[in-house]
Amino acid sequence: MAKYAMVIDIDLCTSCYACFLACKDEHCNQAHLPVTAAQPHMGHRWMDIKDVERGKSARVKVATFPIPCMHCQDAPCEKAATDHAVVRRDDGIVLIDPLKAKGQKQLVDACPYNAIYWNEEENLPQKCTLCAHWLDQGYKEPRCVEVCPTQALTFGDLDDPDSEVRKKMGQGAVVLEPGDKGLNPLVTYLNVPGMLVAGTVFCPDVQEVARDARVTLSGNGTAQSVKANGFGDFEFENLPRGREYSLKIELPGYQPWETTLTTNEHWVEGRIQLARQ
Ligand code: SF4
Ligand code: SF4
Repeated sequence: MAKYAMVIDIDLCTSCYACFLACKDEHCNQAHLPVTAAQPHMGHRWMDIKDVERGKSARVKVATFPIPCMHCQDAPCEKAATDHAVVRRDDGIVLIDPLKAKGQKQLVDACPYNAIYWNEEENLPQKCTLCAHWLDQGYKEPRCVEVCPTQALTFGDLDDPDSEVRKKMGQGAVVLEPGDKGLNPLVTYLNVPGMLVAGTVFCPDVQEVARDARVTLSGNGTAQSVKANGFGDFEFENLPRGREYSLKIELPGYQPWETTLTTNEHWVEGRIQLARQ
């Protein structure tokens, strides 16, 4: 018996929506009983595509997160269900029983990832099945994984030491929040962007950006330096959340500029002004 897992690499996702459309193609107007009833054409996003912004105007970065059901091994939806309407199979896939789950609208609110959708017509909660109906016939991966043009989605058997999914998990795949509360999901993520510290340095006396100003970020046991680019911009990416740093900016002929900051949220300063010495 396989033990399935999926790793989603945020760096490789181009927000093309091919996975979303493949899911629609596979499930809309086609029931795959006993795994699932048909997905309605509108309103359901069993493979959701979420663009997450970090920073603020005029420095905003966007990362795309494909978000299916995480197939939690300690699943809140399973606990919220009555009559064993949610089952976790031996291969790890979590399924909503399309007959037993009729009328169990409480399942929609039970999922911390908002991965369960309500089918008004069928009076039924529904979600991603990892295309279990195909896997049970010997296919190797769900439709979303099959169509992804950049291999941002990797699926396979965790018990196979040579599987690509196991190698990817070994590269430091993490659970997407809020799943760190012991939900133990089968779906994990690589290259989730961390906190951002960025700014633009300006010399008001000459009305010019401070090209080549040296910017040093110290804290968390390390110090890293960059030079402001031709637009006076600098940035430090993928910092851990909730740490204290000191930021220092130096440019010959100007007084050093210093501040302290905490990465509880992204820190972006649009116009840091240097004073003449
Ligand atoms: Fe259930 Fe939501 Fe976890 Fe999927 S992500 S198993 S729907 S709690
Ligand atoms: Fe991202 Fe691949 Fe889905 Fe396109 S198909 S949105 S690249 S995960």
